Parts: sequence; C-alpha cells; structure tokens
Amino acid sequence: MKPYSFCPICGTGLDQAMIEGRERKFCPSCSWIHYINPVPVAIAYTVNRNDELLVVRRAHEPAYNEWSLPGGFLEAGEEAEEGCLRELMEETALEGTIDSLIGIYHREVELYGSLLVLAYRVVVADDTIAINHELFDAGFYPQHLIPEVRIPLHQDIIKAASLYESVQ
Ligand SMILES: [Zn+2]
Repeated sequence: MKPYSFCPICGTGLDQAMIEGRERKFCPSCSWIHYINPVPVAIAYTVNRNDELLVVRRAHEPAYNEWSLPGGFLEAGEEAEEGCLRELMEETALEGTIDSLIGIYHREVELYGSLLVLAYRVVVADDTIAINHELFDAGFYPQHLIPEVRIPLHQDIIKAASLYESVQ
C-alpha cells in the first residue's frame, strides 16, 4: 500500500510526527490524522455433511491460481458472520451456517496492508457449487485428498480447525 501524500479532507500536503506512540501522518491545516488500522477479513473453513473440506482456486491476486479457503473483506455495517457467509455465497453459491469461530489472525499483505482475519467453521447441507468470476475451480475434498494449499495463513486455519475437530 502506498502511503497518503495529501490530506483526503482538504488536500494539504501531509506532515509526519510521533502521535500516540507511533509515527503517523497528519494534516497541518485541518489536523486530520492518518490512523492505519487493520482491515477485517472473514474466511470460511467450509465442510459438507461428509466432513469434506471446500477449497477454491483463486482467479485474482493476491495468491493468483492458488488453492485457498473462500473469504473476503467485511463490508461496513455487516456482522462478521454475515460477511463470512455472504462471501461464501458470492464465490460458490453455497448457503452455509456458522458452526464456530476457529481463530483470529493478523497478517501483513503487500496489496492491502494490515489484515485482521476472522476464520469461521461453516457447514453446508447442500454442497452444489456454482463458482463466480473470482475463482477458477472449487470442490469438496476428503482430508487426505485436499489439493495443496500454500498460503501460510490458510494452512494455519486448516491446521487449527483439524485440531479442533479431533477433540470434538
Ligand atoms: Zn487537511
């Protein structure tokens, strides 16, 4: 992410100073301060009735063409669970229900900066998939046949979910 150079409120060139314990850009004209906060993302670790895991092959950056778990950015005014199920629906046409929160993660991504990731375990009754333009492919796989997921965050979520399932 490129840093702001000008104030988004009044257009004045920004200065930088130590503000509340961090170097932050601020506007010397209107006093706007550029707080940089993580952007929330919801990820859906989705299983069908046979406990097969849904993995999708991404058709966009970051991680173009990589197998991953579905998910995306939360919208303003949306509950995290809603956003998680909405993303799943948009990408795969699957109607899921939230089973549990797997974990909360923080990641720095070049394209978007700081991300706060909420990973949910989602279950679907009907596993008929229709992918949208964001994906090349999607399918439910038994644990031993899951295509290789190479995104470290998604590996961590899968590992955490498997540990959770093994103690149920
Ligand atoms: Zn300003």
